[in-house]
Amino acid sequence: MAEGPLVHHYANRLRRVLKGKQVRVEFGIRKLKQFEISLEGLHVQDVEAHGKQFRIHLSDDRVLLVHLMMWGSWRIYRNEDAWDKPRERARLILCTRTHEVVAFSTPIVQLLSKADLETDARWGNLGPDPLRSDFSIKEFFRLLEEQRTREIGEVLLDQRVISGIGNILRVEILFQSRVHPRRLVGTLSQDEKHEILRWIFTLTKTWMKNMGKKIDWISIYRKTGRPCPRCGTPIGFSRQAGRITYACPKCQCLSTNP
Ligand SMILES: [Zn+2]
Repeated sequence: MAEGPLVHHYANRLRRVLKGKQVRVEFGIRKLKQFEISLEGLHVQDVEAHGKQFRIHLSDDRVLLVHLMMWGSWRIYRNEDAWDKPRERARLILCTRTHEVVAFSTPIVQLLSKADLETDARWGNLGPDPLRSDFSIKEFFRLLEEQRTREIGEVLLDQRVISGIGNILRVEILFQSRVHPRRLVGTLSQDEKHEILRWIFTLTKTWMKNMGKKIDWISIYRKTGRPCPRCGTPIGFSRQAGRITYACPKCQCLSTNP
């Protein structure tokens, strides 16, 4: 699953090739084929990442939305390059005079007007994204406050509260903040909430900065039974929000009043 830093990294690469360019759009999804003619002659105004979504803004005020989910990937080919993946897996192809930009295997490609995207219940309802300049701390705390009866490990994965956080980030953010994923949001102190936000910024930016390098910033993700790097207690795991979460049972605080 592509988490926010990876999505931003790829959106930056796509932007360099597509922004300002006239594109020919081909869909590998049958129900979208009929729209190809209506997209002829359009330019790409911009490519942006919001949480885990790619949003490719077209010059007629429509947006191509792509979500890679678990299996999708992007490739950028020069026109003369041979593709390294089968053509039948291409779901979206954007051709410029020099490049072919292809989304492979992704189940989610949508073509929406900007206005429809803003009000779309599934795709338009995103919480603030820590890698975007429009992140609002006030808005994040307001949305968090509405989740008082839910567990923080579940809430961090809820894209309506904060966007771009996936399983690796939620595990590492809570470990560094010394907060157990099972804590209810309503039991968190102000200091703990600010500590969580601090680590949201730190870890999303660390991942982004070290993309493709072999710098290991992961402390406990997928390290069940290995000693906690802080206190040596074996790392535990449990299932939460449909995913496996990891925590140190000793130094990640489970009690209401630490
Ligand atoms: Zn520990």
